[in-house]
Amino acid sequence: MKKIQNYINGELVAPQSGQYIDNFNPAEGKVYSLTPDSGSQDIQRAVNAAKTAFPSWSSTPVEMRSNLLLRIAVLIDKNLNQLALAESIDNGKPLSLASSVDIPRASSNIRFFATAILHFNTDAHKMDNVAINYTTREPIGIAGCISPWNLPLYLFTWKIAPALAAGNCVIAKPSEITPMTAYLFSELCIEAGLPKGVLNIVHGLGTKAGQAIIEHQDIPIISFTGGTATGKHIAATAAPMFKKLSLELGGKNPNLIFADCDFDQALNTSVMSSFSNQGQICLCGSRILVERSIYDKFVTAFVDKVNKMTIGDPLEDTTKTGAVVSESHMKKVLSYIKLAKEEGGQVVAGGQQVHLKGRCENGYFIEPTVITGLGHNCRTNQEEIFGPVVTIMPFDTQEEAVKYANSTAYGLSATLWTENITRAHNIAHQLKSGIVWVNCWLVRDLRTPFGGMKQSGVGREGGNEALRFFTEAKNVCIKL
Ligand code: NDP
Repeated sequence: MKKIQNYINGELVAPQSGQYIDNFNPAEGKVYSLTPDSGSQDIQRAVNAAKTAFPSWSSTPVEMRSNLLLRIAVLIDKNLNQLALAESIDNGKPLSLASSVDIPRASSNIRFFATAILHFNTDAHKMDNVAINYTTREPIGIAGCISPWNLPLYLFTWKIAPALAAGNCVIAKPSEITPMTAYLFSELCIEAGLPKGVLNIVHGLGTKAGQAIIEHQDIPIISFTGGTATGKHIAATAAPMFKKLSLELGGKNPNLIFADCDFDQALNTSVMSSFSNQGQICLCGSRILVERSIYDKFVTAFVDKVNKMTIGDPLEDTTKTGAVVSESHMKKVLSYIKLAKEEGGQVVAGGQQVHLKGRCENGYFIEPTVITGLGHNCRTNQEEIFGPVVTIMPFDTQEEAVKYANSTAYGLSATLWTENITRAHNIAHQLKSGIVWVNCWLVRDLRTPFGGMKQSGVGREGGNEALRFFTEAKNVCIKL
């Protein structure tokens, strides 16, 4: 069986303990490879390598760093098919989605930051005839980058690309549930000639390898994407060491649909924004709020479309809905469907585990599920489910829509459907979300700051914000 290896000091190496964790193929419910069960010794080796590499990498001319990263992006493009296949097998997502979204966007992340660093600049401020201030921005040292399982290579590269471009060395830990693309990525880094120790990828459990990263005193920056509970733990661990933190956390995103919207567009995109990647995208809308005058029409049309969605083998070209990521996650999602019924909700589409035939008979499949009849305050409408489950609720006024939308502890993203431009601006400003999409979803301009409000996170990634995060500012004040 394939054994994934750590990438430390430019080499692919076994974990010090010699121990491995089973890695499942969720579409089959079977172990198909082994992931290193790394611990603090492996992290220490990675820190030693990164410390040795830092003086040279941080002083490497920006253009040379940029070229090296671009070489990696080219290799991702060349190996798109192999990477997409690996991601689909590792994660259960349709191969078509991995090939058209995840892997191309991973390459775009690297390209974006490789070129953004060439244009990164700092400010100068003149104080009349008193003094002139100028700011410098230097790489900080070793960045710890910890990423989740839902968009494995995409979110992994989203963190490491700005960190490396800015001149830091990196210790990265992908999710132990989906390690394969990060492993293949380490092979591409070797092929591209990335100097040893600049990037170290250490696989393993969050509570062990991840914990060793966040506790390590020589890793002063942590960029984390994952659940809110893990984010709280990381913040509590890192704060006494005054680490610089960026936390991209969970969401419970509202999707507001007004009667004056383009109905077909709102309907089609809402099906996508609810169920893409089996609802396992942090930006998926999980609470659809519909103006009462079109509520019945919308529910009927939405359910009709959802009932036509076919669940299938993720490797088939035609499959649009694949498996959820693990057995435990499947059980968690099913327990929320049960909770929704206990809270008085009506399951108007889906609601069941699916047993496919053949290769996928033991896979983790759940029907796309639609629930109506719940109030905005119940647990189903407050807690993140992170699966193919969406609720639909009516609202009567704009104020009520905004109140429901803002009623959770989260504030990651929101989607708004209206043809009234004044309403669009007004509501966009009232929504407590890091990003508001108006008449679209998942359109991403990498130049914009990205991140959540409230319990969806702290810090902003994307564009110059990310490059700023991975650098230390210093002001020099010269008397005139
Ligand atoms: P988790 O918080 O469980 O895990 C995220 C990463 O943190 C994994 O690599 C995990 O390792 C690691 N980890 C777990 N415990 C620790 C620890 N004590 N110290 C250091 N690292 C640790 O999230 P999931 O992987 O389940 O991802 C789903 C969540 O991510 C959802 O809540 C989703 O909303 C959120 N998310 C947010 C996004 C955003 O941009 N805001 C984007 C995508 C997802 P291991 O896998 O081994 O447990």
